[in-house]
Amino acid sequence: MSEWLLEVEDLKTYFPVQKGFFGRKSGYIKAVDGVSFRLKQGETLGIVGESGCGKSTTGRSILRLINPTGGSVKFSGTEITSLPQGEMRKLRGRMQLVFQDPYASLNPRMSVAAILSEALSVRDQQMNRAGRREQVMDLMRLVGLNPNQADRFPHEFSGGQRQRVGIARALAVQPDLIIADEPVSALDVSIQAQILNLLQDLQERLRLTFIFISHDLSVVKHFSDRIVVMYLGGVVETAGKQQLFSKPYHPYSQALISAVPILNPLKKRERIVLSGDVPNPANPPQGCTFHQRCMHCMDICKTVRPMLVEVEPGHVVACHLYS
Ligand code: SF4
Repeated sequence: MSEWLLEVEDLKTYFPVQKGFFGRKSGYIKAVDGVSFRLKQGETLGIVGESGCGKSTTGRSILRLINPTGGSVKFSGTEITSLPQGEMRKLRGRMQLVFQDPYASLNPRMSVAAILSEALSVRDQQMNRAGRREQVMDLMRLVGLNPNQADRFPHEFSGGQRQRVGIARALAVQPDLIIADEPVSALDVSIQAQILNLLQDLQERLRLTFIFISHDLSVVKHFSDRIVVMYLGGVVETAGKQQLFSKPYHPYSQALISAVPILNPLKKRERIVLSGDVPNPANPPQGCTFHQRCMHCMDICKTVRPMLVEVEPGHVVACHLYS
């Protein structure tokens, strides 16, 4: 059996761009374009990048909530990109998504007890009512909710509490992998820390395997063993957390890290401010997709797309400065 729980190889997800009255296909948005990484049981992988870089589409493509255009995704050694829908539904119970907006992802007509019972029934259809109720209570306690509120509806909870319900629902099926897609970005800053602490606590206690997707590197930093930095649909750098923070190679990673606040007032880090915006993914620049914003841009960068190369063990970078 493979040592990897998840192996993503050259994943591509393209969306057709339609034009005119008859919706003629005029091109593609390459939302995910050749993403590769691997994840072991019990590890947490952070995926970070600006809005529109393809990180959420990567998460959804792994779960096949969006069908990938190409590449390979192996989960516990099983290739899932070509799995029939019925088989995929069964497998999806082992992979759960925690959404950015907990309110939109919870059925407003179902009580929290009903939402969690439904998830529990995916794992064990034989469980009786009393047993299921008991487990609902346990799940609510696990995520820091008052079990006496089990019969309340999502709108009766605050945003942070609703996210706790979303996390409890994901945990109900005892998944092998949880993909948390910007799980705190819709919450107030004061609540964000509480949810992050909860996720970290659960990760340590239950040895969960996580993919943690965020635009905020300081959020990803707390969780991740390894970090994938994405830009315009592609991976520009992958490294262990310490490696990336102590020596980021890619100019884009350097800019992201320079924006992470340092708690020690004696240490100073020069902020690198990027000029311009992320280019239109329907019309990406030739060569290195970052070249229009890069202060180290060379002639080759404008025409030749850099490949990922290993700069030190376990640390890969796509940049002509190192190839
Ligand atoms: Fe900058 Fe060139 Fe490296 Fe791209 S390949 S990040 S443009 S130096």
